This record gives sequence, structure tokens and C-alpha cells, in this order.
Amino acid sequence: MSAEEKPTPAAEPEHYTAKPGAGSQKDSEVQAKPEKSVPPKPGKPKSAAIQIHPLDERIHPKKAEGRFANLRIAAVLATQFVFYIVPWFNWLDRQAVLFNIPDRHFYIFSLSLGMGDLIYLALLLMICAFGLFWWTTIAGRLWCGYSCPQTVYTEIMLWIDNLVEGDRNKRLKLEKSSWNFTKIRIKATKYLLIFLFCAWTGITFAGWFNPIREFVPALFNGLAGGGAMFAAAFYGFMTFFMAHIMREKVCLHMCPYARFQSAMFDKDTLIISYDYERGEPRGARKKSISREDTPLGDCINCNMCVQVCPVGIDIRDGLQYQCIGCAACIDACNEIMNKMSYPRGLIRYTTEGALEHDYPESDIKKRLKRPRAAGYGAVLAVAVIAFITGISTRKMVEVDILKDRGVMVRENTQGWLENAYNLRIINNSEYDQVLTARVKGFEEIVLTGFPEEGLKLPARETVTIPVQVATIPEYADKGSHPIEFTFTYQESDKSDADKVVIEEEATFIGE
Ligand code: SF4
Ligand code: SF4
Repeated sequence: MSAEEKPTPAAEPEHYTAKPGAGSQKDSEVQAKPEKSVPPKPGKPKSAAIQIHPLDERIHPKKAEGRFANLRIAAVLATQFVFYIVPWFNWLDRQAVLFNIPDRHFYIFSLSLGMGDLIYLALLLMICAFGLFWWTTIAGRLWCGYSCPQTVYTEIMLWIDNLVEGDRNKRLKLEKSSWNFTKIRIKATKYLLIFLFCAWTGITFAGWFNPIREFVPALFNGLAGGGAMFAAAFYGFMTFFMAHIMREKVCLHMCPYARFQSAMFDKDTLIISYDYERGEPRGARKKSISREDTPLGDCINCNMCVQVCPVGIDIRDGLQYQCIGCAACIDACNEIMNKMSYPRGLIRYTTEGALEHDYPESDIKKRLKRPRAAGYGAVLAVAVIAFITGISTRKMVEVDILKDRGVMVRENTQGWLENAYNLRIINNSEYDQVLTARVKGFEEIVLTGFPEEGLKLPARETVTIPVQVATIPEYADKGSHPIEFTFTYQESDKSDADKVVIEEEATFIGE
């Protein structure tokens, strides 16, 4: 038999427990007639937990190569560039992005958010959540497959595995081999690389919450604070535990998003699916037999799609909640289709509606305009507009006037009626500000306790100052009277004409 005539190769992955219809090495070797399989139903991920492989077994996925593998590499590089490099950027003489929890102040380039800005942080979280919901409705598990930190760190761990131990077959062989010097050397090298990666990941994580340019030297000098060191150690350890020890088990058994995202799926959500109609009946065949001359479908039952799968499932069993949408099976199958000179795309991105012939695949883009996607999109748009409007109109200095409840009204040394207030002044800006204050409401009214030359507000600080307002008793009879405080400051980067005026209403209690 020539190489051309040999049945196409099939190999059962060691971790995979063959199920009826899933195909196996033996199936393909002995297969003289098409293998019968039950058509799986595409669509919403199955939520029932299907035990694919024992919990204590390690999956060693084969390295997939192709368009989507390249996209995944690009996604890993892009997300990790943001994670590792951004904390080192400076902006206005401070770290560009810093979530300074001890000081309760967050900086995102020129945006500076303090405790008075919790509404904007809530809006940011809302934008992230609805952005993810909207994206999932449209693109399924694209987030999971390309940018979820668990996927990204697992991918990096797999790169290290591949780099040090070799591809899947070498790794399996090494796993089974008895301990000797070579195995110890290889494992020691791998764990050294993993340790360095996890340590640097933990340090970088802590650098998002503590000024990284001070934290890193302090860490190596043994002068870093306990909180920052704990954050670095914890995140570094969790990276090792989740991405190296647990790996796909996090997606399979721990991730809540995997379970509830099926609620966002509909028939028009982009999914990765095996084309059952085209692929079945599956079976091995001689490469020399043309596609038209065999009763078999296009699936040659080589199991490559299973071998590359990082979660160890068979996409031919239908859409499963375990599928993280990494598209490795698309690349693997396309490679086989190329070798067989069959059209690519036996496994591909598609939708349930297209697979069920509700509309042609070319219409998938048109299905973006649908009520569910529009609903999430509308909420997202409202949150984005509210955030942008709020941020762009927000005052750099905010004043809260709190009536001093302990002192309702009293007579001062001049015999005027006096009310006491506490002014809580928040400087949200990056600069020191000088604030002046006036009060109006009666023909004769005096403000005391507030510095006449102006109150100096340090950048990003909140100051509380007690003040008194007094008026002649004839103007303020019994009951409450409206008065108005006017505060003025000049933003340091603006001209004199651009003074900012804040007007706040308050009440004055008469005798
Ligand atoms: S079935 Fe395909 S897309 Fe899903 S996790 Fe496995 S390889 Fe990735
Ligand atoms: S779907 Fe493709 S990769 Fe998977 S077994 Fe069939 S031919 Fe092989």
C-alpha cells in the first residue's frame, strides 16, 4: 500500500474517554462502513455537567496551528502588553493607571476618581458587564477563547510546556517515563520558568494598586509594604494554581460565567460548530478515493479536533458548555481538510440558525440587528453616554454644606444671629487649588471661619472646615431662610477669565 493509499491517520488522545459516536483509533482502523452517530443539536451550550475525563487526569492538548492560533497569540500578546507595560507608563508626574486603594483614589490617565466619584466607578463596572453581555450575545464565547485571563495564562503555561518539554507526544512520553536526570532537568527548567512568570505576574498585579516604580525597588530592598507584598504573592500563587495546576478545570467546574452565559445565547449567536450534515457519516478512507466516490461524509474521524482541544471535548458531540471557544479545533480540522483537498470549514464559526438553514451563512452579519443584541447595546450605550457626560461636566472641586446640627442658632458677640456649618470640600483634581467663598441671602450677611485670602486645597484631598454665617436679627425672623454660598477657584491650566464658580444653596435658621 502506498503512502497515498494509507487510511488517513487517527489517534485517540490519552485523556479522552471515547463515547458512542465520538470515534476512536480502533474505529478508524477497522471501519469499512460508515459509523453511525446521533446528530447533536447545535445551539445553546448544554448546561448539564458531562464528565469528559477524570478530574485527576492531565490534558496535554496538541499544539494547533493556523489562522485562529495566530489570532490567539496576538490576543495574548495584546492583553499581556496592557497588563505588564501599562503600570510603567507615567502621566502628569504619576503612574498613568493606578488603583490606589489605601488612598481611595483611582487614576486612569487624566481621569482621577476619588471617593466622591463612586458613581463613575459603578458606571464603569456597568459598562464592563453590559459590554460583556452584549458581546456574548453577538459573538458567543469569543471573550473566553481569546482574552479571559484564565485562557490567556493557561495559553502561556502551554507555551512553556511546549518550549521545554516539546509537543503533546513528547509530553505524554515524559509523563510516563520514570524519574532520571533528564526528566529532573527538564522539569526543573520548566518550573523555574513558571516560577519567574508567576512571580513577575504577581509583582505586576501589585503594581496596579501601588506605585510600581517605587514598589519594585522596595521589594528587592526588602522595604515593600506588607499589603503590596501579600497582593503580589497571592496573585502570583493564584496564577500558578489556576493556570498551571487547575487549567481547564477552572473553565469546566469553577467558572460561573460559563454556566450562565447560555442565557445570553440565541439562534443567531456566533458559535463554533461541527457541520454534522457535511461531516457524517464519519469514517476513515483512503486518500486516493475522491470525495464523490465515497458514501462517507467529510469527517475522516482523525480525532485531531479532540487532540488539540484544551478542555478535552469532542466538538462533534454538539455545542457544550465546556467549549471555551478557542477555535483550536477549527485550525486542526482545516489542516486535515487541506490535506484531503476538501473544502475548509467542516468545523467553523457559524450560528445555530445558519446550521438549521433558517438563513444562509452569508446573512449572519445581518442578524446582528435583533432585539436581544439591541437591548444590551441600548443599556450599554446609555451607561457610556452617562459616564462620558458625567465625567466631562464634573467639577474638579466639589463642596457639600452640612448644617452643624449641634448649633441651631445663636447670638454672636456683636448681637447678630449666627448659624454654624461644616463645609466638606473635595479637590478631585491633580493640582492644588485656592478656593474663595462668599455668602448672600440677606442685605447684611457675614461669613466667618473661611480664610479671606482663600483656602488652599491640596491636590486629591478632602478638607472639612467649620464656618459661621451671621446676620442682623431683623433680617432673619423665626423659621428657615434660603441663603447661597458662592465658591470660586481657578483651574491651574486655565486663564483668569476661566474661573470656576460653584453655587450651593443652604438654609439659615432665624430666632
Ligand atoms: S471544542 Fe474546539 S473551540 Fe471548543 S474548547 Fe475545544 S478546541 Fe476550543
Ligand atoms: S472533524 Fe475534522 S479534525 Fe475532527 S475528526 Fe473529523 S476530520 Fe478530523
